[in-house]
Amino acid sequence: MAAFANPRARGQALRQLRRQLSPEHICTDEQAMRTASLDGARITHMPEALIRPAGDADIATVLRLANKHRVPITTRGAGSATTGATTPIRGGWVLDLSAWDDIRIDAVSGYAHVGAGAVNAKVNEAAERKGWFYPPDPSSKNYCTIGGNIACNAGGLRAAKYGVTRDYVVALEGFLPTGEPVKWGLPLKKFVSGYNLRDLWTGSEGTLGVITRATLRLIPKPETRTTFLAAYVDEARALRTVKSILKARMQPAILEFLDRQTVSCFLKKHAAAGTLTSLPFRIENIDTPPAMLLLELDGDAAQVRKLQREVKPLLSEKSVWLKHARSTEEAEALWNVRRKSSQAMFQLGDTKLNEDIVVPLDSQLPLLRYTLELKKKTGLATPTFGHAADGNFHVHVMFDWDDAGQRARAKESIDLIMHKVVELGGAITGEHGIGLAKSPYLRLQHTEAEIRAMQAIKDALDPNGILNPGKIFEPFDMWEQPRERSWRFRWDH
Ligand SMILES: Cc1cc2nc3c(=O)[nH]c(=O)nc-3n(C[C@H](O)[C@H](O)[C@H](O)COP(=O)(O)OP(=O)(O)OC[C@H]3O[C@@H](n4cnc5c(N)ncnc54)[C@H](O)[C@@H]3O)c2cc1C
Repeated sequence: MAAFANPRARGQALRQLRRQLSPEHICTDEQAMRTASLDGARITHMPEALIRPAGDADIATVLRLANKHRVPITTRGAGSATTGATTPIRGGWVLDLSAWDDIRIDAVSGYAHVGAGAVNAKVNEAAERKGWFYPPDPSSKNYCTIGGNIACNAGGLRAAKYGVTRDYVVALEGFLPTGEPVKWGLPLKKFVSGYNLRDLWTGSEGTLGVITRATLRLIPKPETRTTFLAAYVDEARALRTVKSILKARMQPAILEFLDRQTVSCFLKKHAAAGTLTSLPFRIENIDTPPAMLLLELDGDAAQVRKLQREVKPLLSEKSVWLKHARSTEEAEALWNVRRKSSQAMFQLGDTKLNEDIVVPLDSQLPLLRYTLELKKKTGLATPTFGHAADGNFHVHVMFDWDDAGQRARAKESIDLIMHKVVELGGAITGEHGIGLAKSPYLRLQHTEAEIRAMQAIKDALDPNGILNPGKIFEPFDMWEQPRERSWRFRWDH
């Protein structure tokens, strides 16, 4: 574990920083510090300062001082990580890059040149205005930043067809922990000079460097898209349908699965609000909810027409009903089932642990059966939805944090899920990363030799261990930590 400066030395370092940066870029007020103390995992630890750098020179100054005086640095975008990756667990200074949000589209090369703080959805909106498209679309796209996306190698709903963030990063600019500026790659179609540290930084959760700017690859915007929602008596029928669609090499842009527990939360929320009749489908009995598939096809118009003819019989073969949106408004109404179901889960408990595990495609059904077994064993709900075309499921465990019995059973559930996933040949995380929450399970996924190799890279690039310390490698016990009750973003996706 890295040795950091004691509180007195940190105070001195902060005073030195104040002499070198304009005062408006350093915040130490209670409200700013609370915001910087957590992310979506709600594990909190107060930093000693929140720094909003105005330019490259500020970042270089901050890092030089932090590295010299051994002050921990946690870089922050929107703070929407779900693993505690953004919590400054060793204190120190939080470097907030959310204001670095410039976006410039190069419509000839098909590139977006963006600041680290550019919001994901805004990058795609800017690209679409010029006929281009930025496919990675985490559900948090309306607020998460490109810097955070790159640091976590974020996925999203379209990943099975279009890939994840790493597939779109052409070049990065940023800083080493020493404060020296670096460029990994250039905005060129080809670049193979030296080691590829661009890909090494991507997915390294802010532990190897500070990303300030990125060049992202764009693809031509699909001409049209069309949306289906299908209901199935149970998970088995829905997942067998997924298999038939994949076997037929259909490549939907989106193929989302929702289990019966998830759909039940969505329906019960509507029932409580008296809005069941406003839904674009009828449910005979909300006590026997269906499992569902939400499918979106995209491409040029002729291609989409052909695919929709082919996919309809596959979707409907085992279904109770199938809805095909005829307009953007109808598509939005179908999409709401997926968008609103996550928030609706909070009727099952005040805490939602969202495990973004991945299993091989032929293990999807065994995994789903296991979540139901777990529910029986622990008595805690395990609503699950996910990106079925790439085996990336969000298994949620719902419970009340202040109930010690429920908390113990929630921990047991997570332990068992992680073991099961690895036993099935899967990954303990497919898009959220390790952060703090998954660090106790790193050794389940990796051998000691693999971890040693990763640690050697960390030690070589950040010898004083100042960048995002405490993450990934050090097993963290989140169950006894202080947690914020609420988080500044609403869980409405
Ligand atoms: C409702 C909800 C839905 C979500 N859905 C998805 C999803 O579908 N797919 C998915 O992949 N994720 C999803 N996430 C997780 C999260 O939104 C992503 O991990 C996102 O990439 C984080 O971006 P951010 O700007 O919030 O990063 P932050 O939370 O601020 O930071 C995340 C990590 O990146 C590091 N970091 C941030 N900026 C930089 C930088 N400039 N340089 C170096 N390191 C940096 C931080 O230190 C931290 O380790 C979801 C989260 C929520 C709350």
